Amino acid sequence: QQGQEEIDRLADSFNEMLERLEVSFEHEKEAKEQMRRFIADASHELRTPLTSIHGYLEVLLRGAAENKDQLYTGLNSMHGESRRIIKLVEELLLLAKLDRRPELDLVPSSLTRLVLDMENQLHLLAGDRHVDFQVKEDVYVNMDADKMKQVLLNLFHNAVQHTDDAQGKITVSLSPVRGRAELKVQDNGPGISENNLDHIFDRFFRVEESRTRKYGGAGLGLSITKSIVEAHGGSVRVTSAIDQGSTFSVSLPLKANLN
Ligand code: ADP
Repeated sequence: QQGQEEIDRLADSFNEMLERLEVSFEHEKEAKEQMRRFIADASHELRTPLTSIHGYLEVLLRGAAENKDQLYTGLNSMHGESRRIIKLVEELLLLAKLDRRPELDLVPSSLTRLVLDMENQLHLLAGDRHVDFQVKEDVYVNMDADKMKQVLLNLFHNAVQHTDDAQGKITVSLSPVRGRAELKVQDNGPGISENNLDHIFDRFFRVEESRTRKYGGAGLGLSITKSIVEAHGGSVRVTSAIDQGSTFSVSLPLKANLN
């Protein structure tokens, strides 16, 4: 009788171990698959502009360089392609750093100040789009100012890219809401469909229509934004619907007034 009980218990614990092993194995498989995808995506993103540069060089070397116009067109295109590569490599380096749990230089400071200091720069970026700043109260958070600037720039840049120069309207707002600082970037662009919303913060994810666009990035901006905000103990959300524009909201723990 006792022997049977022990055997049962032993069988149970073996089963348990097996289950755990399977779970961790599944987890490992998933991590490996993610890594594989990441490398495949990054290589693909690099290969496209490199292939293009290679092609231009071949044409130029075969004689097109003799023609001043063709030489200029080739150089100009290669300049654009190399800029894409530089941007991508910078983003990849930043992601690698963020993965190692970022070395944030957290200082209690005024997020209001940061936003207002960027006002001119954002107006310039916006071209003819109408930009509204709704920033009144002084809001303090623990932040790495350089990283937080990047967050606002990424979100604003996306808003600019997805609105028309003349009809575009972008609102940047900041206010304290229930113990959190809420920084929002709202646009009146085309919006994001429900099934794309679930993936918008994934690495290398781009909405289908954006893939063909020339100026589009590699789909890393929002995942970088999310990593930075989460490293600050915050969160980032999006509300959007087709033809309704998009609102990206960053929520950060408030710091008591410094004065
Ligand atoms: P990228 O660096 O390529 O712009 P992001 O990670 O910033 O990539 O954005 C991912 C996808 O989300 C892109 O395909 C882009 O089209 C879409 N997106 C981002 N911001 C907006 C916005 N404000 N309005 C509509 N679509 C957006």
